Amino acid sequence: MKVGPVSRVDNSKLYDRSMICNICSITMSKKFKNCPGCGSPNVSKSKETEQPAPTPPIQKGEEIKVVEEYKLFGYNAKGQVGVYISKSSTTGKSLVYFPKQEEWGELEEDKYKRLKPGKISKKNKEFISRVKKMEWTC
Ligand SMILES: [Zn+2]
Repeated sequence: MKVGPVSRVDNSKLYDRSMICNICSITMSKKFKNCPGCGSPNVSKSKETEQPAPTPPIQKGEEIKVVEEYKLFGYNAKGQVGVYISKSSTTGKSLVYFPKQEEWGELEEDKYKRLKPGKISKKNKEFISRVKKMEWTC
């Protein structure tokens, strides 16, 4: 096997590591069609890059969907979409506004899922700017 300087690509900062050689396991930039170490065309996407980007922390105004049974003023809010406002430091629950019902709820984090992490619609931005002026009781 030819061993040249190019085989040390694994330790190089010059390349991104989006591809991995299935023969010798070195990582390389996706511009390589063949492994620069062993010359094999048997390269595939490296597992490192397959991992999804970390989810940004939830922000005021993000849309959430209730995924568990949750009683909201007498009915089950499961499946409803709400606007995340804040997290209570005393109960650990999230304060959520349900625009359709015009109701507020306090949910445990595992009772809802985030619909678009890190994204806030224009409508919700406007809403939370109005919310700021209100006085919180919780
Ligand atoms: Zn290789």
